[in-house]
Amino acid sequence: MTRRWLAALLLAASPALLAADAVSPSPGAGKAAAAKAAVHEKSRCDLIVTAASVVTVDSAFRVVPDGAVAVKDGAIVAVGTRAEVTAKWAARATVSRPGAALMPGLVNTHTHAAMSLLRGVADDRPLMEWLEKSIFPAEGKNVSPKFVTDGTLLAAAEMIRGGTTTFADMYYFEWDVASAVEKSGLRGVLGETWLDFPVASHKDLPESIRVTRAFLTKWKGHPRVTAAVAPHAPYTCSKETLLAAKALADEFGAPLLIHLSETRDEQKTILGKYGASPASWLDSIGFLGPNVLAAHGVWLDAEDLKLLAARKVKLSHNPESNMKLGSGIAPVVAAMKAGVVVGLGTDGVAGSNNDLDMFDAMDFAGKLAKVQALDPTVLPARDLIRMATIEGARALGMEARIGSLEVGKRADLVAVDLATSRSQPWYDVTSAVVYSVKASAVSLTVVDGKVLWDGRKVRTLDEARLLLTAAEWRSKIAAQLAGGAEPAKAEGPVAR
Ligand SMILES: [Zn+2]
Repeated sequence: MTRRWLAALLLAASPALLAADAVSPSPGAGKAAAAKAAVHEKSRCDLIVTAASVVTVDSAFRVVPDGAVAVKDGAIVAVGTRAEVTAKWAARATVSRPGAALMPGLVNTHTHAAMSLLRGVADDRPLMEWLEKSIFPAEGKNVSPKFVTDGTLLAAAEMIRGGTTTFADMYYFEWDVASAVEKSGLRGVLGETWLDFPVASHKDLPESIRVTRAFLTKWKGHPRVTAAVAPHAPYTCSKETLLAAKALADEFGAPLLIHLSETRDEQKTILGKYGASPASWLDSIGFLGPNVLAAHGVWLDAEDLKLLAARKVKLSHNPESNMKLGSGIAPVVAAMKAGVVVGLGTDGVAGSNNDLDMFDAMDFAGKLAKVQALDPTVLPARDLIRMATIEGARALGMEARIGSLEVGKRADLVAVDLATSRSQPWYDVTSAVVYSVKASAVSLTVVDGKVLWDGRKVRTLDEARLLLTAAEWRSKIAAQLAGGAEPAKAEGPVAR
């Protein structure tokens, strides 16, 4: 008697038994009359994922032991105990992760994905030296549609492996980023970056407006790609550039991504130039609004935070970048107390972080806040998971569709393997997820109901090919930098 046959026979009495198999199709009809009848009474769905613990991140932060999520047509149709879900739903495929936590896909609210090709190109240097001697020359010579496509696909593979299902990006040729995102299966909010000087994808403000308008038009309504406008920062964009970006974003109902108050130098520069903090200057020109997502916010003061809360501006907190570049500690606890929505981000990997690991982002954000406050009770694990999921979704204006495991939301979910020596035993699943594991613990990534990572394989991308391409870029760029490239002055792109 095979196990499958036995399972089919006992289905009516023990519907949960099915889910005890690893990835397996549900039983075909006809094995046993009782099973046939039972399956017939159930609703059909595409996928059921079962796990040791389902961390829903709903408003009550419900955690379901021995839980399951059912998915149909890319949406979540059931969340509950394994017994409840499998009693009501019959799936075409079942994924069983008895040693894992199942949670919403992680939302990285700030990165420059294509810069993965410049990973670690120059570390441990002062910001301006890093930019002028390495980043500007490397970007000035190489940023092209191919560079952006290859770099974004490499970053996409890293994100898929690490449980990131949605990311916000600021770079150039974002229409090529969009094509890469579409191919990878990820979800992206993709902001074409504008500056007051020429970049590879547009040379002046009229051209920036023209190409970005075409980008916004082409991708409008796409289920996974949200086109956005990304004026780089208050110190690299004039009032005219900022307001043109805002007008275009508002016209399309698109997000506006910007760097804000990242360094003390920026604070001093804007104060010297306009007599105000960067946030209050942006407000004085009418730039701030609910669609603005500001990255960093390290040097925001209490007045700035009040202002951002009043204008419903969202913040992206990038603890590792702020630490690695010596920028400072962002006042995120104060920001949240003031009513500002705060998501988490990694920033780019070309020196400001070096990886896209959102588990690291949670871990560092928590520890940094505790050090800042000299208080271990601030930003507990549960809040850090919220920041990496539902609050990140809120920061991108997508909280109605993603960010938690709830019926009706898109099925963006990840399984985190906790059956390892670095995470066993665990007593509180949120603590295990935040403080014990890294991105490498993710064993399943699903976006829009589609499995992107399972069985240690990225399903949508040819990773071996991507690694080969990355090595080719590395040889080329290393040779250029060794050849003593002239530092670019004002012409190089400066996303970071
Ligand atoms: Zn950045």
